[in-house]
Amino acid sequence: MKKTTTTTKRVLLFPFMAQGHLIPFSQLAHLISLRNNHSVTLVNTHSNILTLRSILPSSSTVRLSSLPFNPSDHGLPPGHESTDSLPFHLFTPLFLSTESLRPAFTRFVSDALSSDPTSPLSIIADPFLGWTVDVAKDLGVFHAFFLTSGAWGSAVFLSLWTHHPLPWSDSGDLVLPNRPNVRLHRSQVTPLLLDGDADNNPEFAFFHRQIAQFCKSDGLIVNTAEGFERSGVEFLKEESGGMPVWAVGPLLRVPSTPSSDDTHIGWLAGHPPASVLYVSFGSMNTISASQMVELAMGLEASGTAFMWVIRPPSGFDFKGGFREEWLPEGFEERMREQNRGVLIHGWAPQMEILSHGSTGAFLSHCGWNSVLESLCNGVPIIGWPIAGEQFYNSMMMVEEIGVCVEIARGNGNESVVCREDVERIVRSVMMGGEGEEMRRKAREVGEVLRAAVGEGGASVRAMDDFLHTAALSFV
Ligand code: UDP
Repeated sequence: MKKTTTTTKRVLLFPFMAQGHLIPFSQLAHLISLRNNHSVTLVNTHSNILTLRSILPSSSTVRLSSLPFNPSDHGLPPGHESTDSLPFHLFTPLFLSTESLRPAFTRFVSDALSSDPTSPLSIIADPFLGWTVDVAKDLGVFHAFFLTSGAWGSAVFLSLWTHHPLPWSDSGDLVLPNRPNVRLHRSQVTPLLLDGDADNNPEFAFFHRQIAQFCKSDGLIVNTAEGFERSGVEFLKEESGGMPVWAVGPLLRVPSTPSSDDTHIGWLAGHPPASVLYVSFGSMNTISASQMVELAMGLEASGTAFMWVIRPPSGFDFKGGFREEWLPEGFEERMREQNRGVLIHGWAPQMEILSHGSTGAFLSHCGWNSVLESLCNGVPIIGWPIAGEQFYNSMMMVEEIGVCVEIARGNGNESVVCREDVERIVRSVMMGGEGEEMRRKAREVGEVLRAAVGEGGASVRAMDDFLHTAALSFV
């Protein structure tokens, strides 16, 4: 087939249904749609299409297309088509439900091919949707996975799954195969990999299937910058058996212009530069009620001003409302009276908070979007990883980059944070020399990240290369 530079190149993107995936996918879709002669479509279930529409800039030309999906067919409550406000025990039904979308997606791609057989078409899918590789191969279409996590964290995750079962020492440690300098503790590995097996655990079997599909794809797009995660990109290439890796990030939402009419931004504006600690555990993770009390007591004792996005503790329904008994008596009122702390109940304008000059550090679960949003704004991190690759993100930032200090290392009961630790670490980051040094490094990293997506930057060139490769492979 003859290809000319004026042919419209079509790109279909299919994210998994979680905020931390929908947000970067919509950024990637929008970025590609800004290229000449590119037509971009995001595919998902109806309610996630509505979410994607609300994330995309209103001027975006990205098309949105719904696939038929009925949550109750999969044991999900009505209206629950994403991890948002879904209790953890329903995550596995959500994971499994995605496989039911295959026939509709196959029809969608094949209709697109027959309606215009000459315009190149490629698929960028979420690694949680491993079956999309088979659809692409069956229809002769280029396929890439878009990793919404960082390169290093993804490589560790891939290594753990591909080398399962793992050789643990008696002390509960593991030296990562092919990376003798990376030592993990059992508490830093998902319990699924420690106890699960494909015969008895549907969640284990689900991830096992995704890993089996992973290296069948034509390549990996990663939301990172090569200059920021050089060793991570190398590690990912090795673990994936030499797959092409395109580091096109950081893909971030542009914060809206800060307005002091906004309650939270107005509150921040009343504080000195770099004096407020922002606390959030992302869109899905929560800590236990007893850990919330320790965090609250530690924050109060530290004397630091803070803004905490607070949600019901683990084990409670997100939509069940907030109960005062989850916090020390009179805590919220005392903090308000002293103008010391704000609790945000619900969704926070995170990008706007992190880009505000009064924000001095971020106590974070180290979800990858939060990491990038923080570092792009030169804000260092106090790591409290809870699940998945968050442990590896946090570890990488401590050991390789020096922009993070960990308050917690493991998960569940194996990492109990006490109020004294919170007080000590928050003080040293917000008021001590350690914090100043971390802020200096975070500013440097922020420059590297911003340069990568600036004119002629490494991530822009990686995107050029990806789009060129994808279009060339269309036959
Ligand atoms: N987020 C936000 N407000 C909130 C909580 C989360 O804007 O109150 C956004 C945050 O800026 C980030 C995403 O939701 O873009 C969370 O992604 P991340 O990878 O950090 O964590 P996840 O929620 O996937 O664990």
